[in-house]
Amino acid sequence: AKSRGRNTYQFYTAALTRLANLRLSMEARLRRAIERNELLLHYQPQVDLATGTPVGVEALVRWQSSEGRIVPPGEFIPIAEDSGLIVPLGYWVLREACTQGRSWLDAGRPPMRLAVNLSALQWQHKDLLKRIQAILDETGFPAEQLEFEITETTLMEGGGPETGVLVALRDLGVRVAIDDFGTGYSSLAALKRFPVDVLKIDRAFVDGLPDDPDDQEITSAIIAMARSLHLEPVAEGVETRAQRDFLLERGCRTGQGFLFARPLPVGECVQWLARALA
Ligand code: C2E
Ligand code: CA
Ligand code: CA
Ligand code: CA
Repeated sequence: AKSRGRNTYQFYTAALTRLANLRLSMEARLRRAIERNELLLHYQPQVDLATGTPVGVEALVRWQSSEGRIVPPGEFIPIAEDSGLIVPLGYWVLREACTQGRSWLDAGRPPMRLAVNLSALQWQHKDLLKRIQAILDETGFPAEQLEFEITETTLMEGGGPETGVLVALRDLGVRVAIDDFGTGYSSLAALKRFPVDVLKIDRAFVDGLPDDPDDQEITSAIIAMARSLHLEPVAEGVETRAQRDFLLERGCRTGQGFLFARPLPVGECVQWLARALA
């Protein structure tokens, strides 16, 4: 029994070492990917749920690895966060999205909001505001059309001084959305304190609509709360007409999801937008 115990121990040690090496090599590869410009953005349209008219796009990062595979963010964002790489990666995403947004405007496309995700580490980065301002200056993208998505958990774990960052962001003229709303533990009191513009209803709740009574209740409550605080509710993960109709009926007018469009490579997104606006 003793030797079996030792074997098991060795087995786990080996497995853990392998896992650590895998993460390390992933981190090294990701570091190189940023340097070699192997990252790219896809854009998912956000629409007026009643008419299907696009009102904005959310930029979502992808990694086109040297083997040609497109790696989804779920596989590398956590590693980027643990290693701190998310900070340079996040600035790359912001600069790329603003450059793209500016070129759309220059091509005569109608102004639309451009949503960019900000992770917890970026949120705590001391140069955040300076860097955002510098990227806006450098790209010439209008601040009023830029929206940052910050998860509810990031905001709530922040507590004190981060409210100052929110105020400063508002002073820059950008909009702020609370992402994955409903998965954290915001109190109404906290929510009232935060100068934000949008509540994004997490996909997990939209998923069960229109039939799941819990999801009905949660989404209805979020929409009602958003409206009473003069925030715009935005639903993510809208996949069916029945979901869209439920959301509209409860007073949520904006959303994104496969019912309208998946996150698209830039060229396809431009085509989609042109068609939807025609
Ligand atoms: P998120 O910010 O909640 O983004 C929405 C995710 O839902 C996207 O996954 C999108 O493809 C997916 N989605 C949109 N509509 C539907 C739908 O109708 N059905 C289903 N099943 N899924 C839908 P994606 O692109 O894989 O991104 C996953 C997460 O990775 C994002 O969740 C976000 O947290 C993170 N992420 C992506 N890009 C960035 C980035 O540039 N910076 C940071 N910090 N995080 C990012
Ligand atoms: Ca988001
Ligand atoms: Ca989400
Ligand atoms: Ca559910």
